[in-house]
Amino acid sequence: MAKKNESTGLKKLLEDQLADLYYVEKQLTKVLPKMAKAARNEELQGAFEEHLNETLEQVGRLEQMFEALGRTAKAKKCPAIDGILEEGKEIMDEFKGDEALDAGLVAAAQKVEHYEITSYGSMKAWAEQLGLEDITALIDETLEEEKGADEKLTSIAEQVVNIEAEEGEEEGEEEDEESTTKRSNGRSKAPTRKVKSMVE
Ligand code: FE
Ligand code: FE
Ligand code: FE
Ligand code: ZN
Repeated sequence: MAKKNESTGLKKLLEDQLADLYYVEKQLTKVLPKMAKAARNEELQGAFEEHLNETLEQVGRLEQMFEALGRTAKAKKCPAIDGILEEGKEIMDEFKGDEALDAGLVAAAQKVEHYEITSYGSMKAWAEQLGLEDITALIDETLEEEKGADEKLTSIAEQVVNIEAEEGEEEGEEEDEESTTKRSNGRSKAPTRKVKSMVE
């Protein structure tokens, strides 16, 4: 069944996931600078830039894993991340200039982080099962960075960009009192500025 020097079973799954994530991380080194540039909020910009630096490290870590397995680093196209990134691009285009852009960028970025967290999570379990301690440790370093990035994004959303997105909407409504054009979302023009996050 398997050709010479070709893995099977769990080891094959692990190598497959490794090649998938190598594609994912390399794509992200190209996309994160665009997301940082698109972000309106400085804190969000900073978060994307910081995660770009981590992502560059993660590419290096994946190369170390290939080496530990005695394989040459090879990326395998991941249609899932291509789709998630395609939706992220849609948000960037459709919400360009809109106050809700950053809230949309956070959501798009979190879809990426969650894909990474689940992929690295499975890969870590397989590496542990196979007794590959060095690889498990490398995966764990990256996995913690992905979880940290996800948590950072949640906090930026709840404390800053979701609020700004809603405030922008209210400012728009105030403008409507004069211009009456655009934005007729059916909501009453409440002058009170409620600051509430998406939670609670
Ligand atoms: Fe990553
Ligand atoms: Fe994939
Ligand atoms: Fe979708
Ligand atoms: Zn990530």
